[in-house]
Parts: sequence; structure tokens; C-alpha cells
Amino acid sequence: MNERFVVVGAGTMGLGIAYVAATAGYRVDLVEVDAGRAEAADTALGGLLNRAVERGKLTAPAAADARTRLKLRRDLAEVADGPDVIVEAVPERPDLKRAVLAAAAARHPALLATNTSSIPIAELATAVPDAGRFIGLHFFNPVWAMALIEIVVGPATAEETTAAAVALAGRLGKDPVVVRDLPGFATSRLGVTLGLEAIRMVADGVANAADIDKAMTLGYRHPVGPLELTDLVGLDVRLDIARTLQAAYGDRFAPPPLLVEMVEQGRLGKKSGQGFYRWVDGVRQ
Ligand code: NAD
Repeated sequence: MNERFVVVGAGTMGLGIAYVAATAGYRVDLVEVDAGRAEAADTALGGLLNRAVERGKLTAPAAADARTRLKLRRDLAEVADGPDVIVEAVPERPDLKRAVLAAAAARHPALLATNTSSIPIAELATAVPDAGRFIGLHFFNPVWAMALIEIVVGPATAEETTAAAVALAGRLGKDPVVVRDLPGFATSRLGVTLGLEAIRMVADGVANAADIDKAMTLGYRHPVGPLELTDLVGLDVRLDIARTLQAAYGDRFAPPPLLVEMVEQGRLGKKSGQGFYRWVDGVRQ
């Protein structure tokens, strides 16, 4: 019998994590409360597997096997007790994450993880009865293409849990860094700093979005500019992270008014079709 992997939240990240786990041989339950999102995730997973076959990354039988191992669920209560891993990937709101983690812990996973980008593991661990098994597994977008997993060790995380997380990263074909539990960890703290400053520069009229991005891609060898990356991550996700970091470190992480305004207007980036760029069928215009 295959080992069991549960992902909660079938948004940008949950979908990618579920895909990577299924192609690594796990039986995967992907739990999503929103019926529309669940349906979209199901279709997207089929599309990802088909593309992997077309590009020669998976054989057709391996893709078909992965498809049969992936199940969409509407509620964690539908998941059988005792999976090997549960990763929560619901929106970056501490109360929501705590509620989901408490429900996930009640399924008694061997390893319980959060994909938070910025919330301290210690703050989320208060919702989990056995915090020794709890850890941060911070995946990157798109999950199937990005090599890094940032493993965030909370104050209560047991050593064997960290070792299990490092082994899991390898099993998923990823290369981990292990970091201490401070808000924003290593990646978000640096990445969001750059993203917020680039947004302030658009507001100041330094240059347009494309030229600010070009300055970083050509001038600093970043593979993608900070504004395009903000569009890919989602402006709402970046805003939530900025607010978490502002609460922890003060106003150097205060979200720029332009970011708040764009989120209020529903300009969320790639997923809504408009952010700093226009996106049609997932392609930057
Ligand atoms: P998203 O908004 O695309 O997806 C979240 C999904 O969770 C939605 O489909 C939502 O309906 C679902 N959801 C909400 N409550 C739920 C519940 N109780 N049970 C099941 N599903 C529920 O968000 P995302 O971009 O995938 O981000 C998810 C997490 O990953 C956040 O913590 C974010 O900070 C982190 N993260 C995001 C990125 C990125 O590039 N987007 C990168 C790394 C980490």
C-alpha cells in the first residue's frame, strides 16, 4: 500500500504540493472547502500530468497511476486516520490556519506541516496537541519546478521530525534549507522586502513595472523581476505576508498603499488576470 499524504487547500500551492506528492508515489487526499476551486484543481491536476507526459518527464502509465492516487475531498473528516504527512496550504491567516491545523492533528498524522510563508511556527503550534511532530515545510511556486523547500523548525519541533522533514524533501525531489523560526524565515523576509520596495518605486514613478523588473533580471541576474514575482505569488498573499511581517518587525514592512488599493480592486496578479501585468490564459502579456 502506498504511503498517504494529505494536503489541505487546493489553491496555487496546495495543488502543486499534491501534484509533487502524487508523482513521488504517495496516495494523496487534497482537501478543499470551495466546490469551484476543487473542480478547478481537479482539472488543473489532469492538465499538469498530461503536460508532464508530453514533455517526456513522466511516462503515460506513471501519470495515469498518479492520477488514480489523487483524490479531491471536501472535508478533513473524510480523510482516514493516521496518514504519513499532512501539509496545510490554506490562506495566510493565523486563525484560519490554527483551526485547520487543529482539525488536521485530529487525523493523527506522523508529520504535520504548515506551508506558511511568514507566520511563526510557534504561534501556530499552540493549536496542535503534539507540537513535537509539527514543522514548517515552505514550498515555492510553482512547486513542481522549484527545487527549494525551506524547513522551519519551531521551538517544540522534535529532532526526529526535522530529520523526517529533510528525508521527505529528498523523496519529493527537493533540496531543503533548515531555518530557525523567526517571522518571514529566510526567504519571505528578503523576498518581500524587495517586492514591497519595487511597488513603492512604481508608486513613486521611478519607472514602469516592466523596466523595474528588467533592472533586476538584467542588472542583478534575478530569473524573474520582483513585480512579476508578486503577480505570480498573488498580491493578496503578499499583502497578508507584509502585514504579518509588519506586526513582527515594524513599519519597514508596512504594505504600500498601492498594494492595498490593487488588492481591494481585485487586481491580484496572474490568478485574477490583472496585477502589475495583464495575464491571459496564464501568460503574461
Ligand atoms: P490560495 O488562496 O491560492 O489557496 C488557498 C486555498 O485554501 C483556497 O482554494 C481556499 O478555498 C482553501 N481553503 C480555505 N479554507 C480552507 C479549509 N478550511 N479547508 C480546506 N481548504 C480551505 O493560497 P496559496 O497561494 O496557495 O497560499 C496558501 C499558503 O501557502 C499560504 O500560507 C501562503 O502564504 C503560502 N505560500 C504561498 C506561495 C505562493 O506563491 N502563492 C508560496 C509559498 C507559500
